[in-house]
Amino acid sequence: MKVIKKSHYITSFNRQHKPIIEIDLNQPFIIETQDCYCSQIKKEDTLRSQINGDLMNPSTGPIFIREVFAGDVISLEIMKIQLEDQGLMLTFPGLGPLGDLIEEQKTKILAIKDDFIYFNEEIKFPISPMVGVIGVAPKEGDIPTEYPGDHGGNMDTKEIREGSKVYLPVSVDGGLLALGDLHGAMGDGELSGMGLEIGGKVQVKVKKINTKTIKMPIVETEKEFLIIASDKDFKAASRKGILYASQIIQEKLNLNFQDAYSLLSATCDIRISQIVNPLLTLKIGLPKTLIANIFPLNI
Ligand code: CA
Ligand code: ZN
Repeated sequence: MKVIKKSHYITSFNRQHKPIIEIDLNQPFIIETQDCYCSQIKKEDTLRSQINGDLMNPSTGPIFIREVFAGDVISLEIMKIQLEDQGLMLTFPGLGPLGDLIEEQKTKILAIKDDFIYFNEEIKFPISPMVGVIGVAPKEGDIPTEYPGDHGGNMDTKEIREGSKVYLPVSVDGGLLALGDLHGAMGDGELSGMGLEIGGKVQVKVKKINTKTIKMPIVETEKEFLIIASDKDFKAASRKGILYASQIIQEKLNLNFQDAYSLLSATCDIRISQIVNPLLTLKIGLPKTLIANIFPLNI
């Protein structure tokens, strides 16, 4: 199986970046990833202010996918996530919603053993591996890997885990896929500003989906399809996600807008992916009991 080394990474999604490798559809391959600080912090005496702050959220890629063209939709199946044996969590002034209460920067290294994360000698919790950044190049411009958006990116959505599929709209030939920012665990919201940040390996398979393009990323889990909407605040992100979810329900169940809107309200949850990145990310879950297959979409 092809292994893409973590030494090849980008810190922005941009069609000008040269692909580092070409891969085929339907063939599993492995992507190695750095942690969100580009593996610069390995010990607790290394502080945030001592590292190169330009190397944030490095994402391995760009990966050119053969037979994929602008206007296509791809699915990325997350087949397996393998974590390194230690991760890190930082706190420093200004980080996250309570960053004003932090006076000193602190680095915490957390060991992983037998699928548990050891927070300290008394407290441990199970790993729940996920992918923070996964995306393709936008049609134009340069989007730092710190940003989530319609191209994917830093969605920090905990359902992007083993067994899930991420559907992305492709804007340039080959897609120019990149992936990074694994978390050993993270709750909805990413409340302190980071998950358990960690490097690792992700086994992925890319397929092409027979559909019209999609307006924003969609994540498929065992039970639902999540519409991933990122925007400047809750009002903007929720409007965007609710509108798209209602349009999907309208098309798939052959309803008028008002009926789709009511059915959405009765059956779908809106949840928070993250509140700490430059744009906020929400997810709206369409249960598979309502819509078994979301593709093809014609809207
Ligand atoms: Ca992230
Ligand atoms: Zn992260």
